[in-house]
Amino acid sequence: MAEGNVIVVGAGIIGLAHAITAREAGYSVTVLERDGRALGASVRNFGTLWPIGCAFGAEREQALFGVRRWRELAAEAGFWTSARGSLSLAYREEAWAVLREFAAAGAGGALELLDADAVLRRFPAAQPEGLRGALFSAVETVVHPSSAIAALTNFALGLGVRFHFGKPVVQVFADAVECADGERFGFDRLVIAAGEEMRLLFSRELAAAQVRRCRLQMMRTVPQRADWRLGPVMVSDLTLCHYPAFRECPSTAQLRARLEAELPRHRDWGVHVIAAQHEDGSLTLGDSHEYGDDFPPENEAEVEELILCSLREFVRVPDLCIASRWQGVYLKSTVGQTQVVLHPRERVTMVTAMGGLGMTLSWGLAQATIRSWET
Ligand SMILES: Cc1cc2nc3c(=O)[nH]c(=O)nc-3n(C[C@H](O)[C@H](O)[C@H](O)COP(=O)(O)OP(=O)(O)OC[C@H]3O[C@@H](n4cnc5c(N)ncnc54)[C@H](O)[C@@H]3O)c2cc1C
Repeated sequence: MAEGNVIVVGAGIIGLAHAITAREAGYSVTVLERDGRALGASVRNFGTLWPIGCAFGAEREQALFGVRRWRELAAEAGFWTSARGSLSLAYREEAWAVLREFAAAGAGGALELLDADAVLRRFPAAQPEGLRGALFSAVETVVHPSSAIAALTNFALGLGVRFHFGKPVVQVFADAVECADGERFGFDRLVIAAGEEMRLLFSRELAAAQVRRCRLQMMRTVPQRADWRLGPVMVSDLTLCHYPAFRECPSTAQLRARLEAELPRHRDWGVHVIAAQHEDGSLTLGDSHEYGDDFPPENEAEVEELILCSLREFVRVPDLCIASRWQGVYLKSTVGQTQVVLHPRERVTMVTAMGGLGMTLSWGLAQATIRSWET
């Protein structure tokens, strides 16, 4: 068993995954969280564990490991998951070509290419008008973000991880961090998992890593009637241009060009649409991507309209009454990296900028960090 004192800054999913993995490896672990509970991107996302969006190779392996770990932990820590996979629906010829190319490339995991009739027989929520076909992938899984984060925090407490909430870390010394109230915590290893607030610690190193902030708009419907189920997480043409996984498909460039010409306002707001159903029957819907140093406080009504308009093109939802709306912010690499891991000082690791895949990649990232200490 490993020994040593690990301090983790941030109780979002990246902090929790590091804390639990380090504790299970034998380290003594303390988490310092600025707020009364985790309130960042980890409780504002869809809760979709999304290997299908990850680039082929090491990142997809990391994602598949992540899904296995999430499913194990759901049983151990006692939180809800839905392992119904994902359905990528194609309405434009170019999107159907992308899906065929993707399936032919053998992306790993259980993939099924379905023609329109097969889709509608198996997934009645899919919108039939103009449907060409779809790709079903069995691995994608949904968790309810805030319940899962709360359950994982309790699970970590049960393992002996110590938590201090309401403790913003304001300074990092060679072997200790200092909180806003002056209290110091010594460390042998420090993990900084401060999400989009990373810029407050080691801002120069972060700037050199070329990341920028991204704001996303999200919403949730009222619970749908009990006899209606979405089934898998559903996406369509717009999403195929969003994730790294589909970049290698030759037809993605044509699909992107067509979508940008047909839907210029979606392009301007970076809108693509994901629909995920949760335990209570509600649908989480989003999202948009707006880049900048800071953002106005208001939600944009136009973004909501664009999301709902595109959603209706691929899912038939009984009740689109919106029960809640929120925003999330994350860091994203401007040079195409899907994660940024920095070592600004000896024994200090910063993990950030997973963009829209941080829930999916969290456990794989944590495993890589803790393994790197052992070699
Ligand atoms: C709208 C939206 C949808 C998304 N959808 C998905 C999805 O479906 N699937 C997926 O895989 N990923 C998704 N993501 C990405 C994922 O949510 C993030 O990558 C992930 O949650 C980042 O986790 P984190 O722990 O790094 O950051 P956070 O969750 O932001 O946690 C950072 C924590 O650090 C704390 N903190 C900050 N500064 C300090 C300090 N100085 N001292 C102490 N504590 C501090 C904060 O209070 C916060 O609790 C989505 C993100 C957003 C915003």
